[in-house]
Amino acid sequence: MHLKTAKQALLRLGAVLCAVTALLCALAGAAAAADGDVLTVGVPADRCPVFYTDADSGEIVGIGPDLLRAAAQEAGYEVVFRTVSEPTLKDALDSPAYDVVMPLGSSITSAAGQSSIVSDNLTQTPFTLVTWGNRKLEDLNRLRVGMLRSLGGGAETVRQLYPGMEIGFYDTMGQCVRALRTGQVDALLHNSYVWSYVLQKPSYADLTVQPSAMFSMDFRVGTLDTPAGRAVIERLNRGIAAVPETRRQAVILAYTSRQLYRYDVGDFFYRYGLAVLLGVLLLAAIIAIMVMHQRSFRRENEEKLRQAIDYDPLTGALSLNGFRSRVEELLRANPDVPYLLSYNNVRNMKYINDSLGWSVGNELLRFWVSSAMKILRDDEALCRVSGDRFAFLRVIEDSDKLDREEETVYEPLRNYFIDRGLETRVQICAGVYILTPEDYQNIDVDRILDHARVAERKVREARRDGYEVYNPEQWERGKRLADIVSRLPSAIRSGEIEVWYQPQVDYAAGRINGAEALCRWNHGKLGRLQPAEFIPTLEDAGLIYDLDCCVWEQVCRDLQRWNAAGHRRAVSVNLSRCDLSSGRDIPELFTRLAETYGLGRDQLRIEITESAFAEDPEMLIGTVTRLRELGFPVEMDDFGSGYSSLHMLKEVPVDRIKLDLHFLSGAGDTERGRIIVSFMIRMVHSLGMELIAEGVETDAQADFLRDQGCCEMQGYFFHKPMPVGEFERLLRENDAAADA
Ligand code: C2E
Ligand code: CA
Ligand code: CA
Repeated sequence: MHLKTAKQALLRLGAVLCAVTALLCALAGAAAAADGDVLTVGVPADRCPVFYTDADSGEIVGIGPDLLRAAAQEAGYEVVFRTVSEPTLKDALDSPAYDVVMPLGSSITSAAGQSSIVSDNLTQTPFTLVTWGNRKLEDLNRLRVGMLRSLGGGAETVRQLYPGMEIGFYDTMGQCVRALRTGQVDALLHNSYVWSYVLQKPSYADLTVQPSAMFSMDFRVGTLDTPAGRAVIERLNRGIAAVPETRRQAVILAYTSRQLYRYDVGDFFYRYGLAVLLGVLLLAAIIAIMVMHQRSFRRENEEKLRQAIDYDPLTGALSLNGFRSRVEELLRANPDVPYLLSYNNVRNMKYINDSLGWSVGNELLRFWVSSAMKILRDDEALCRVSGDRFAFLRVIEDSDKLDREEETVYEPLRNYFIDRGLETRVQICAGVYILTPEDYQNIDVDRILDHARVAERKVREARRDGYEVYNPEQWERGKRLADIVSRLPSAIRSGEIEVWYQPQVDYAAGRINGAEALCRWNHGKLGRLQPAEFIPTLEDAGLIYDLDCCVWEQVCRDLQRWNAAGHRRAVSVNLSRCDLSSGRDIPELFTRLAETYGLGRDQLRIEITESAFAEDPEMLIGTVTRLRELGFPVEMDDFGSGYSSLHMLKEVPVDRIKLDLHFLSGAGDTERGRIIVSFMIRMVHSLGMELIAEGVETDAQADFLRDQGCCEMQGYFFHKPMPVGEFERLLRENDAAADA
């Protein structure tokens, strides 16, 4: 029984002991090192090499963690480091997430106002000031110093050491440096070990460490001043004391002697900017070359494909498809070039193929194309429509084109076999279509081909050998135009262009007081041509300026001769609206002409047509103004013929108006015409301009004009235009009559 009660008492005691132990353990665990031996340490991680996160392992390492780990091991702790997420260590002290925090220089009050206790010193950390440029630091107590905000705990120790020091806090090292460079602070303060790391950044090479301004700060672990906290600190202190000094030095050396700083992109550019730039450019160039290569490869392929679609593989001429686009292109680019399209067919091709074989037939087709290619211009095109049918787009250079072609292309083709000792003559039927202005406006290659085909069928059905023109009238016109345009340069050189003069008279005084120069073309092939026929053509072809220059020169030469003979006269010359819009400096040209031939500028009267005003009023006004400033009289030609007459009269400052009777008295009610003319005469005089009436054909017209106050006249009633010799004779008679 006794034994039994003793046993029960023992068991009960054991249970009580167990319960007490468990309670103690729970209390201790709640207060500090949980699980007995694990110590959670809150540390910053932004100050390599003292505290930082290792890029490879992701663990928090550095001088601080290694020193503490050594001490904690001695104290029997296992340590876990956590980055403090609070803004400062003062805040971290209050956090239950850490058992202890570090580094603290001395015990400080927590953010919540709790007092803390700190461990013994793990090591002395040197703190150094860094300045910018070669600034000297004098009185440390009056210095403005920049620090990282997270070093707030350290700042308190600094304040105790240097109460007069003004401390500014910044979130990042970059901001600290900017504050230093912009003069907001005199120096930056940080752990020397950290400086040894930070100053490895290339762009901080201009910062200077101030070794003379060094001071040391303790490097301790701290926690809130509670019983549990005190217990942890006491235990840690034992560990700290047990760490040999050599071990401490080894840890510090290990971190400060390593190149821990890693270049970021900015550093890289700072350091190797030029090299990087060149590298990037080189890379860009390589990429560009590759892209271009790729493109040209694609273009080549497309071109090959296009070739396959657009060209006939047998002869190398264009295919119908290629011809269509080429013709469209040419007509669009050359709207003023006269073209013809011929459609050709070998009539006896079947016979040739059957009797001589396909390959011989093919040889013939190839020969045809190669001989045609030899005479083909860049602005012409040749196509194999199908089988033995070929189409040519050709420029009508002159009326002999088709005849010449007969000789150069068709005859050798016809004689192809004969020239090779066979009897077969190649028979060719051709249909020719002359392109009309409408064909250039509404380009339809198939329609053009159809017309040529129709003409070709006529030849084929008539069992003839040769060509037929679809639109012969057009052909005649086209030939004539081509003869005009193609012959102008040689006509100018060979003197085919003549200047005729139509006298201008003073009807009241009965004498000649001027003339209008009008050109005539004594065409070697087409005979005497009137301006109405070739002037519009030359204007369209952009050649009128050449003709006008030739006329002006001849007029100047005549005026010079008359001047030399003592007869100073004035001549009106015509200026095409195309001369005005050609971009040439007309006033300059006339000035030079007058100088060259020793003429007074008033001897050259320049006629500008009213229609030029409608085209480009500003340019017309500009030229007229300049001509008049230079002293050339300007006349408004064909007045009354345009729609803008009155408007023009208001805007353009001319010296003389040429009233065209033709437009006012020609058809319709003559009485109304007379009323208009009489008002116009008065109006022009009221505007202070001179007036000449042209196209005067009857004495009634002349009398009427004179009665209305317009005595200057020009017209068939007085004289028709005449060659210079005749005009000179007339002038002599006129002078003689005046003298008598
Ligand atoms: P335009 O400047 O109006 O010249 C007057 C035209 O009327 C001349 O025709 C002249 O022969 C004609 N004419 C003169 N009096 C009468 C008449 O009483 N009745 C009729 N029905 N007609 C008469 P032409 O010489 O055939 O010249 C025609 C047009 O060609 C000129 O009209 C002018 O615009 C232009 N022209 C003539 N020569 C030149 C030149 O050298 N250069 C330029 N750019 N154009 C010129
Ligand atoms: Ca005229
Ligand atoms: Ca006129």
